[in-house]
Amino acid sequence: MIMPPKKQEKPTKEKKDVKKDVKKDTSAESELIEKKIKTPELLRGFKDILPVDQGKWNFVRDSIRSLAESYSYDRIDLPVLEKADLFHKTIGKGTDIIDKEMYVFTDPSNRSVAMRPEATASAARAYINHGMLEQPQPVKLWYTGPMFRHDRPQAGRYRQFYQAGFESFGADEPIVDAQMIVMGLQIFKDLGLNVKVQINSIGTAESRSAYIPELVAYFRSHRSKLCDEDKRRLQKNPLRLLDSKDEVARGLLDGAPQILDWLDDKSKEHFMKVIEFLDEVEIPYELNPFLVRGLDYYTHTVFEFLLADDEGTKAQNALGGGGRYDGLVELLGGRPTAACGFALGLERMVRALAKYDINPPQFPEPKVFFAQLGDAARRVGLGLFEEFRQVKVPIVEAAGKNALKAQLEVANKLGVKITLILGQKEVLDGTIIMRDMESGAQETVDVKKVIQLVQKHLEK
Ligand code: AMP
Repeated sequence: MIMPPKKQEKPTKEKKDVKKDVKKDTSAESELIEKKIKTPELLRGFKDILPVDQGKWNFVRDSIRSLAESYSYDRIDLPVLEKADLFHKTIGKGTDIIDKEMYVFTDPSNRSVAMRPEATASAARAYINHGMLEQPQPVKLWYTGPMFRHDRPQAGRYRQFYQAGFESFGADEPIVDAQMIVMGLQIFKDLGLNVKVQINSIGTAESRSAYIPELVAYFRSHRSKLCDEDKRRLQKNPLRLLDSKDEVARGLLDGAPQILDWLDDKSKEHFMKVIEFLDEVEIPYELNPFLVRGLDYYTHTVFEFLLADDEGTKAQNALGGGGRYDGLVELLGGRPTAACGFALGLERMVRALAKYDINPPQFPEPKVFFAQLGDAARRVGLGLFEEFRQVKVPIVEAAGKNALKAQLEVANKLGVKITLILGQKEVLDGTIIMRDMESGAQETVDVKKVIQLVQKHLEK
């Protein structure tokens, strides 16, 4: 049967308005589309660390902090922004950081400032600024925070990245160098990561000044084969040719003069002692005669941490590194002060945990859910929730949900053993409902006794 077409209803005033609104909405939407409002995107080389990754991050941060505390390192927080000069002076011209990577700008007071590319120079500045030279030595400091380098972004290399660092000022004994290596390796061990250390000595500035002309002469005779970057290094910072990642330069290394052969007696002795200490505590290490660090201020021992299965062909794989920097404090105007330290890259540690599917120890599963109905219950609930937390009963709530049904859904999903329900009536009576989620049985109990009752119930 063919139905007659329905007579069109005359729109009422209300319906007319709705229509108008809908029309308004669509036109607003098309206006947005027309304007092509683009959601702002992240800057290249910067990233968000999302809640889903925080477990691994906290695992890394906690392991570092707990090691720092057990070795009596004191935490120092240093500013992100420093006078640019601090880094120019210490890191040195001809280094990638100073020549290409530093975020430098003129601030509103017309000062040249830099986002810190690393924190050792800041730690040395703070050591001088705060008269730590007068304290019992060594002064042992640790820090963690973001660093900034306008490097070419790729996996494992960001423009903002986090480091944790350890610095010991005022001790020149080789055992300090060895202990730094032991501490670094211990952090990786605590995380369940299999990490190796490579070490070398680059001696003193004097022993280097005898070695560098030899190195330059060698590479100059092969100059035409070098890539542009290495030609630049040959001119500006020849030591860095030793850790070039370019195939050609790496191939030439076998015939290159080795810095260890140019070390003066004192440097040799220092290095031998570091190695003896490592042998004594049975720490395996690899001697890498081509290991130099990117920064000018290093002296004597230098070391780098790599995953045990890493071939060391990619600069962006090192998990951390450090060494001795006996001249740094003096360079910044302080008294000559021996010092040694290392920094770890947190992103790379988190990435390594993911690579080996290592997961942080789980937080205790919540056992109790706390449902609260109405404002009065929420007010009382605030204090009660805190009391549960203090006696370490794993309790959760769903603060954003008001209806009991929605709150119970969350409780079910979490698989808790007990749900506590606090409504207007219970607040007035000084009671609370305790519901066993398995049996569904529930009873009303005295709110003052609820913590004890819950603890007893959880022990069952
Ligand atoms: P460095 O100060 O260059 O010796 O770096 C110490 C550690 O910080 C490295 O071994 C890396 O783990 C980490 N690191 C350095 N540069 C970056 C970067 N651009 N992105 C991520 N991690 C970095």
